[in-house]
Amino acid sequence: QSKEKGRNLYTFFEQEMSQQASRHLQLLNSLRGAVSNNEMSLVYQPKVDMHSNKIMGAEALLRWNNNDFGFVSPAEFIPVLEGSSLISQVGHWVLDQAFSQLKYWYSAGQWREDMGLAINISPKQLLDKSFVEQVEVLLAKHDIPASLVEFEITENVLVENTERITQVLLQLTELGISFSIDDFGTGYSSLAYLKKLPIEVLKIDKSFIDHCTTEGNDQAIVRSILSICNELGLTSVAEGVEYQEQQHQLQDMGCDLLQGYLFSRPVPADEFEMLLK
Ligand code: C2E
Ligand code: MG
Ligand code: MG
Ligand code: MG
Repeated sequence: QSKEKGRNLYTFFEQEMSQQASRHLQLLNSLRGAVSNNEMSLVYQPKVDMHSNKIMGAEALLRWNNNDFGFVSPAEFIPVLEGSSLISQVGHWVLDQAFSQLKYWYSAGQWREDMGLAINISPKQLLDKSFVEQVEVLLAKHDIPASLVEFEITENVLVENTERITQVLLQLTELGISFSIDDFGTGYSSLAYLKKLPIEVLKIDKSFIDHCTTEGNDQAIVRSILSICNELGLTSVAEGVEYQEQQHQLQDMGCDLLQGYLFSRPVPADEFEMLLK
């Protein structure tokens, strides 16, 4: 009987796995035409100053709306893109689109010099041989100061290919771009890179922010990250702030910037413009 149970369980996993694999393939197929069919768009989520609530910048986030699948979460389709060479094409579109929007806001006097536009960059893009050149060409094309641009990368990207990645980050820093570590505290890397690499911002992962008002351990972790930021002169950002209690707690602890649904969801460019006004 237990053998049979085992077999049933096995076929259950098999089915589950092949369903996942076929969804992956279907998404991949649809993603091939996503850029040329205008199915991709960017939304912008503000980062606000912890005291004044003043908007100090935004994070650009990718959205995909497809006829067959509707809106698919980036948490699902980004890994599909990353598993193919499509991430380079889509990543290039994201940069082009974000720079063009930034140029528009900047020329209209709506984007201040002290604001930063953050763009998520996947590890594969950073390792792309032509990435630095791509960025340089796009900065020139849109004629925007690189100092307004921030790239968000995750710690894990620094674990492998360390030398190559270091070189790429330094080249991009030379262009004037700055770097944030996204989802800080959830990766597998040592902290040594913080003193070696040109990192300016740590974004504290939402998983630590969620219960920072009630869980002693989460609070201790957030405090420790903030103290690292203080000691090393880095800017701190809390991700996923949803409640006023969290805001007050983070203000007390001295987190520089806050980002989350409490202030605004990620919104289309025209709505973000309203927030700026
Ligand atoms: P991320 O970079 O850590 O972005 C933060 C995610 O948290 C976003 O999800 C954002 O919408 C969500 N979020 C912000 N505030 C709150 C909040 O208060 N509550 C909750 N529950 N969620 C909040 P999103 O837009 O679904 O993106 C998911 C992930 O997909 C991003 O995580 C990023 O890793 C990736 N991603 C998004 N756009 C791009 C892109 O253009 N390029 C690349 N390479 N990755 C991207
Ligand atoms: Mg991010
Ligand atoms: Mg994040
Ligand atoms: Mg995150």
